[in-house]
Parts: sequence; structure tokens; C-alpha cells
Amino acid sequence: MADLSKYRNIGIFAHVDAGKTTTTERILKLTGQIHKTGEVHDGESTTDFMEQEAERGITIQSAAVTCFWKDHRLNVIDTPGHVDFTVEVYRSLKVLDGGIGVFCGSGGVEPQSETNWRYANESQVARIIFVNKLDRIGADFLRVVKQTEDVLGANPLVMVLPIGIEDDFVGVVDLLTRQAYVWDETGEAENFEITAVPADMVELVEEYREKLLDTALEQDDDLLEAYMDGNEPSIEEIKRCVRKGTRDMSFFPTYCGSAFKNKGVQNILDAVVDYLPSPTDVDPQPLTDVEGEPTGEVAFVSTEETFKALAFKISDDRFGALTFVRIYSGTLKKGDTILNAATGKTERVGRMCEMQADQRKELSSAQAGDIIAIVGMKTNVQTGHTLCDPKNPIYLEAMVFPEPVISISVTPKDKGSTEKMGIAIGKMVAEDPTFKVETDQDSGETILSGMGELHLDIKVDILKRTYGVELVVGAPQVAYRETITQEIEDSYTHKKQSGGSGQFGKIDYIIKPGELGSGFTFTSSVVGGNVPKEFWPAVE
Ligand code: GDP
Repeated sequence: MADLSKYRNIGIFAHVDAGKTTTTERILKLTGQIHKTGEVHDGESTTDFMEQEAERGITIQSAAVTCFWKDHRLNVIDTPGHVDFTVEVYRSLKVLDGGIGVFCGSGGVEPQSETNWRYANESQVARIIFVNKLDRIGADFLRVVKQTEDVLGANPLVMVLPIGIEDDFVGVVDLLTRQAYVWDETGEAENFEITAVPADMVELVEEYREKLLDTALEQDDDLLEAYMDGNEPSIEEIKRCVRKGTRDMSFFPTYCGSAFKNKGVQNILDAVVDYLPSPTDVDPQPLTDVEGEPTGEVAFVSTEETFKALAFKISDDRFGALTFVRIYSGTLKKGDTILNAATGKTERVGRMCEMQADQRKELSSAQAGDIIAIVGMKTNVQTGHTLCDPKNPIYLEAMVFPEPVISISVTPKDKGSTEKMGIAIGKMVAEDPTFKVETDQDSGETILSGMGELHLDIKVDILKRTYGVELVVGAPQVAYRETITQEIEDSYTHKKQSGGSGQFGKIDYIIKPGELGSGFTFTSSVVGGNVPKEFWPAVE
């Protein structure tokens, strides 16, 4: 049995353009999975599979990719950054044990980062912070660190300091070891030297090192007391404290670098291994019986128990139909018969695989803690379904998806298109639980509903391009099902000064600073424009 304490199931999340894809690429390259880093803009990058994504420059799919660092197995789940797809972020977060929050070193914390951050908090996902793009004009590490405190209410624990900034950004000082990592100009991640702290940084390094120790050692009274008496703890002891506080989300170890220039990525990989939780560290998952009544919980470590897994992503990518699952207990062997608790159907697992950066690796078995893909499942599996041992039917706590908020009508142009659309829609609904399709009783038109205009735009695009359906598309209709609650008003009032994002019922919104007061713009992911006045929260 594999050692689960050496597993890290992590997500990388950020707002669009912060550099999540580039960071993921660099991680995969450094961990030895790929030798040529895919250029994000050519759509070649490993985790961006779909044509639509490449064109729009956003990541819609969450592909899980496996790689290895310092004897640890890292399953990296790519999460989308666009606000319309926060539900995809949410379901990815559900199966993660830890994450890396990527922020732009010059753009700083953006409203979308806030939404994702809030979701991660709700899902209790421990994280490290990576402030990227320090080579960019206007980059300022400590300003972004401050923003994570002010805007996200986070408690960042600065672990490194940048050496130089913008064009002169050359590396980072590791505050724990007082070592400077300086990269040369080849742009290769491997080409760095470890040197002494630059003379002009010594004072700052000592200041931040003290802050780091003061915070970290609060996790261990004995060490803190000894430190107060002038006894410096060992690096291993400090690391143990950082690991403990990270797991409890008392703080977030904070790093910086430039993914694009390959600087600082090793340090975050080390931090993933050193500080982020393994499947054995996280809290057990609640279980219910088929009636939805709680029946206890399942620990991640229980390889002795019967097989239980949660499907969190169905994707039709270049490798065919894949059901991505997180295994919570037991083992799954090729040829095993499993039950889909939601549909009541059983099926034999023909093939399963692990996605690596440039290939998929066939597996003969997988165990609790693993994230794998089952190939070509037939039991109408959908995101959120529990797969389990047929003799022990059980439900893992279901994922809750928000109701769609915007609709469009689509009319196929001819009979051929009508048939193609019927086939396409079945698959698309299985892949995306926030995408709904109905027939309008009066007009007989097909109504597609989703989370935002862009969301539906992409669905129409997929219908047209992937399935060859010719369509006439109607105007978007917005449905507001939620009433404004006190909580939303409070959150809105709170955001008045700084701008920010929040929720309008189940709908995420963004408020831009400077657009407040009587003439403010209440920009919503729902309409991608202004929410009608009658839905504005009451503001003095
Ligand atoms: P994502 O939307 O978060 O996945 O962001 P991408 O990784 O696609 O990056 C967005 C843009 O920023 C691309 O043009 C990248 O080349 C660029 N980029 C990413 N990381 C860095 C960096 O460290 N420095 C600079 N200057 N540009 C970067």
C-alpha cells in the first residue's frame, strides 16, 4: 500500500490572468513530466484541453494531473478562474486537500480572487499563497501581501522575500534558512545558485524572519517559551509549526516569484510537500444513507473499508469520456464491479488511468486518497454521484449546485441538427450540473439555462463546433430567484469602500470601487452587466 502521508491532492486557483496555467506548466516541467513547456496562448498547454478555452484564454475544464516531487505524489487539479465558472472551482475544491492561491504581483487581489478564496475557506482547504509576476512593471510583493490581509481577511505568513523587482527581479531569500536563491538569465528553472543574503537585505530579512517565528511558534508553547528565553528552534521544529498552522488555516505560508521567468517555483513545490495536508490530515467526509440521513463519516485513510468514491468531473477530452473520481476509502481494481448509488446501476470498471502531463497512464488499481479517471463509464454518471461497493450502498455528502440564473432559447435549423442536438445535450448535461435544458411548454422551444452569458455562449459554441448543430439563438433571459437578504446588504455595505465581490442570493457579484453610491454599477456574473435597479440592495 502506498504511503498516503506522501500524497498531496492540490488545486491551483486564481483569477483569470494571474498566471495559474503558467504556474501549473512550470510545476509539471520541474517535476519532470514535460520537457517542453506548452505555450499558454497557442492552446498547447497541458491542462487546457478544449479549443474553446484556448481561444478565450480561460480554463474551463478541471483536469487532474499527477506528478512527483521529492518522493511525494502530487495530484494537481486545475481549477477555472473565470467568475462564471466558480461552480467548477467549488466542485474541485470539494475533492482537494490543499491549494495554491496565485495572485498577480502587480494587479494584486481582484474581486474574482475573493470569490474563490471564500469558496476555499468554506471548503476548509488549507493553502499557500504564491504572488506571481514579480518581473512585471509595478510589481510589489509586500503590497499584495497586505491586500490579502485587507481584502481577503487572510493571515499571510511571509516565507520568502524577493531579491530585486520588475526587470531586476532575480530570486528569493528563504527566510527560514536565510539562503538566497538566485536564478541566472537563461530562464531555466534549474539554473540557480544558493548564496548568502544580499547585504542590503539583511535587516529586512531579519525583521521578517522574526515575524515568521513569532507567528509560527504560537503553534507550540514549549518552543515559543524557549524562543522567548533566547533559544532558537531548529529549522525542522519551525517547519513542524508552520505545517500545523497551515493545516488549521491559522495562516497561509506566502511565497513569490515569476512563473513565466521560472523563478521561485521550486520553493512553492517544497512548500506543498512541507506544509500542505496529505489525505490523512484532513477531516473525515460525512456519509448519508440512500434516504439522505446521516450515517457517520468516512476517513480518507481507511483503505481497509469498502470502496467509496465521488465523481467530481466528467469530461470528454482528447482522450475520450473520462470520469474523474476521488477515492475516499477502500481500493478499486480493474475489473471490479461498482455501484453508482445515485442511479442504482452497477458496472464493471474496464479501464482506469492517471493523467500525467503528456500521457495517460493505465492503472490496475487505485486506493483511498487517489484521484483517478475511469474510462468510458456507462451508468449515466454525473458530477456529484457516489460510486461504491454494490454490497455497501452509501452516499457521500452530495455537492450542492446553484440554480441556473440565465436562459436562452435555441432552435435547430433542420432535422439533422435536431437529432445531433438531442445526443449532444445528454452528454453536456452530465458534464455540467449547472447547465439545464428544458422545453418551453408554450412555444416548444428548447431552453438552455446556465450560470452566466459566457457560460451559455460556450455551450452554444460546443453545440455548434463539437457536435455540428446549426442553431438559431434567442436573446438571454435573466431569472432572479433570490430575494435580497440582510446578509447581502451587510456584505454590500462592507464592500462599499474598497469594492469587492460577494453573493446576491446564490449569485456572485462584483462591485467596483468608485462606482458606488446612487449611481453605482452592480456588476454581476449573471448578466455580465448591470443588475436592474429593482434588485439593488437598499443602500443609504
Ligand atoms: P491564468 O489565466 O491564470 O491561467 O494565467 P496564464 O498562466 O494564462 O497567464 C496569463 C498571462 O500572464 C500570459 O500571457 C502569461 O504569459 C503571463 N504570465 C504568467 N506568469 C507570468 C509571470 O510570472 N510574469 C509575467 N511577466 N507574465 C506572466
